[in-house]
Amino acid sequence: MNSRRITTAFKRLQKQRPDPTTELNYRSAFELLISVILSAQATDLSVNRATEKLYAVANTPQAIKSLGVTGLKRYIRTIGLFNTKAANIIKTCDILLARHAGEVPRTRDELEALPGVGRKTANVILNTAFGQPTIAVDTHIFRVANRTGIAPGKDVIAVETALLQSVPERFRQNAHHWLILLGRYTCTARKPKCDQCLLNDLCDTAFTWHAPTNRSSSEDSDHPLFSKPK
Ligand code: SF4
Repeated sequence: MNSRRITTAFKRLQKQRPDPTTELNYRSAFELLISVILSAQATDLSVNRATEKLYAVANTPQAIKSLGVTGLKRYIRTIGLFNTKAANIIKTCDILLARHAGEVPRTRDELEALPGVGRKTANVILNTAFGQPTIAVDTHIFRVANRTGIAPGKDVIAVETALLQSVPERFRQNAHHWLILLGRYTCTARKPKCDQCLLNDLCDTAFTWHAPTNRSSSEDSDHPLFSKPK
């Protein structure tokens, strides 16, 4: 997709949702951090259900640390990988208390030093909690960036780099949210709704996607544009 079309695409996305944000429920940078750690390979809905009860009793590093791994697991056991996530969250709370006075740090290096926090999570926190124009690339954004041609790339770093180059500066703060919502609800992995997509006259691959019928699901997941980025 050329730069003129990319600008048109983001103007439309902005008009459709002028003030997009995450679908995770949170009231502080700390709650957002914990929710994003929990959201790896889980739906925002499942995370919101669990954190509604968790944050009612513990929404600070000290309070969650006091629950301990076993106590925390009782609140998050409905979420995938909850054993690992519980251990990471308790260690993260320890570090926040020991090194950051209980606050969520504002730099990428400090965020990525927290257990359970990788580049994608750090980008979400920097963007959504602290207003930095980062673009976190998850499975939805990876797929949409490649299909549309806005920022093709073989891996998440390549796509993130391409997005930071191709998305006009004025759209960068919200680009993550617009693209994730487009991927989650319209440009879905197996059956993109091109007929309902507001980018279908701009997209490089509009109307060329269909659910494969002669390939097994494991083969489908091997396709670079269907698969989850590592
Ligand atoms: S036109 Fe189709 S393939 Fe392109 S972004 Fe929209 S839903 Fe995805």
